[in-house]
Amino acid sequence: MSAGGPGGSPGGPGGAQTGGAGTGHDRGRDPGRGPGRDPGPATGRAPLLAVEQAVKRYPGGHLALDGVSLRIAAGGATGLVGESGSGKSTLARLVLGLLAPDAGTVRFAGHDPYRLRGRSARDVRARLQFVPQNPRGSLNPALRAGEAVAFALRVHGTPRVERAERVAELFRQVGLEPGLARRRPRELSGGQLQRVAIARALATGPDLVVCDEPTSALDRGVQARVVDLLTELRERTGLAYLFISHDLAVVRHLAEQVLVLRHGRVVEEGPAATVWDAPADPYTRALLAAATGRTAPAAPRPTPA
Ligand code: ADP
Ligand code: MG
Repeated sequence: MSAGGPGGSPGGPGGAQTGGAGTGHDRGRDPGRGPGRDPGPATGRAPLLAVEQAVKRYPGGHLALDGVSLRIAAGGATGLVGESGSGKSTLARLVLGLLAPDAGTVRFAGHDPYRLRGRSARDVRARLQFVPQNPRGSLNPALRAGEAVAFALRVHGTPRVERAERVAELFRQVGLEPGLARRRPRELSGGQLQRVAIARALATGPDLVVCDEPTSALDRGVQARVVDLLTELRERTGLAYLFISHDLAVVRHLAEQVLVLRHGRVVEEGPAATVWDAPADPYTRALLAAATGRTAPAAPRPTPA
C-alpha cells in the first residue's frame, strides 16, 4: 500500500519530535527524504506514535479493541502479539489512519492519521508506511516490481529522472538484484515479493513502518531472512516499527517492547526479553508454548494495570 494521499507541500502543523532525531543513525541513506520535510517543533520527549485508550467496534457490534494504549518512540520497535482475531490488524488500521477509533486517540508525530488534510497530508503519510502480510495480494500483478516502487517515489515527489536510480538503490538496500525490478509479481518468489513490499515502504523515507504479519505467509527460512533484513534496515536508518505477529518467537527477534493482545485488550506488556523469558499472563505463556513448544515458568511479577 502506498501511503501517498492527496498532495500538498510539506509543512503543516507540527507535532512531536520525529525523524529519528537523537538516534544517532545515518538517515542520509534514506532515499526519498526530501528537503522541506516538516520535522515538527522540538518538543523533546513526545513519542512518535501514541495510541491512547483506543476503542473500535465494527458494524454488527463486535468490539475489536477495548481501550488499547501504545507508544513508540522514534527509532523504537514494538511488537504486537496475539492470536488470530485479537484485534492486531484493527490496531494497525487505526495507526495507519484507515479507520477512526470510536473512542480514544491516535497521534503520529502529533497528527491524527485519520484526519490528515491539505498541506501536511502527503508529508505525514510518507513518514508512516505499511508492509502487508501478503505482498502478492498487495502488489498490482500488472506492474513490474520496479514500477510499484517507482510509483511510491512518484507519489512522494521524487523527480522522474531520479526514479530509476532510486529504485535500483532501494532494491539493493533490501537485498534484491536490481535486475529483478523488471519482473512482474508472478515471476517472483514470496520472499522476493516481501522484499519488494519493504522497498516500496522505504521509498518515501518513513519514520514508522507498520508490519502486519509480514513473515506469516513465508517459509521458515525465508521468514528468518526477512526478519534479519528488517532488523538491519532499522539499525541502518533509525526507523521505528510496529511489528505485528501471532508468533512471539519472531517478535522477540525484532522488538524491544512487546504488547500482548487478547480479545481487544492488552493483557501483558514489557521488554521483549522479559516477556519471552518470564511471561506473567497465562495467555502469553500459551502463546509462548505455541511458538516454541516450551512451557515457560510462571513469573511472579506484576502485570501492568
Ligand atoms: P487479528 O489481526 O488479530 O487477527 P483483527 O483486528 O483482524 O484481528 O480482527 C479483530 C476482530 O474484529 C475479529 O473478531 C474480526 O472478526 C473482527 N473484524 C475484523 N474486521 C472486521 C470488519 N471489517 N467487520 C466486522 N468485524 C471485523
Ligand atoms: Mg490480522
